[in-house]
Amino acid sequence: MLKRVTWMCTLLFVALISTAPSYANTTLRVMASFSVIEDLVNRIAGDAVSVNVIVPRGEDVHLWELTPPNVLALEETHIVFYNGLGLEPWIRHVEAMSDDQITLIEVAQKADYAPLMVSTGQYKGEPDPHMWMDPAGAAAYIDVIAETLAEHMPDQAEAFYARAEEARRALSDLSQAVKERLEGIPKTNRTLLTSEASFGYFADAFDFEALGLWGLNNETQGSAKAMAKMSEHLGKNRPPALFYESTTPSIHMDALSRETSLPLAGPLYVDTLSGADGPAATYSAMLHHNAEILHSALGGATAE
Ligand SMILES: [Zn+2]
Repeated sequence: MLKRVTWMCTLLFVALISTAPSYANTTLRVMASFSVIEDLVNRIAGDAVSVNVIVPRGEDVHLWELTPPNVLALEETHIVFYNGLGLEPWIRHVEAMSDDQITLIEVAQKADYAPLMVSTGQYKGEPDPHMWMDPAGAAAYIDVIAETLAEHMPDQAEAFYARAEEARRALSDLSQAVKERLEGIPKTNRTLLTSEASFGYFADAFDFEALGLWGLNNETQGSAKAMAKMSEHLGKNRPPALFYESTTPSIHMDALSRETSLPLAGPLYVDTLSGADGPAATYSAMLHHNAEILHSALGGATAE
């Protein structure tokens, strides 16, 4: 695939065709690692900041590799906001090329929000990076983003902080709306089994039990042992449905669904937003969409 250009080729490509950037510094140029952070940065940025994204919508943020257009865009970028906590292993290449010219902000690391620890897979015991899946986590990101932008553009600080306050309010309303939508799902149905164990924060915020076919980051997908273990578990504990994510091949979940005769529902969005015409074009739309899928698959209409 085109995007799978090796890092050395990318460097060579850039060395051949790029010239030293010369541009008027009237606009702060910012890149977000993936679309969720892009959406949150856009809520604060206003017209004074240009915001671009590294991983296009629909792609897997964990497994991305920098493309030549990424590298060219990064050469003209002042700040990169990335999630961190291991979500984007490829960020080391951005660090390597930044030469202290780019300010790299690890948003989840700086966020004033207690991380959950991973309970399964190769990242067991490490902080779970998917903090944005709780709107309160996303609100903590907002503070980091607003502070960083204010430091770089002090004359705009007041506007950034005003938008941050509005964004925090909107995220609190969103959390309430999602909670209400999920309210009718019976306690016994509140199991959220996905391919990647990426719904821990969401589960904590909205009172679900989250399970994953594998641990984090989509590096080790669906071993036969993990499949057999989950199949056995589902023999005894039968949730109303299994779920698949938009960025993960549904092949493993399809197999598990056939084996257990449990219906498969989705896609749930977590590691990317959808395109503009999709069901999860913004962070808020993503959580609303996920809530609707859960509501209909887990029996939200049924009173407890
Ligand atoms: Zn993930």
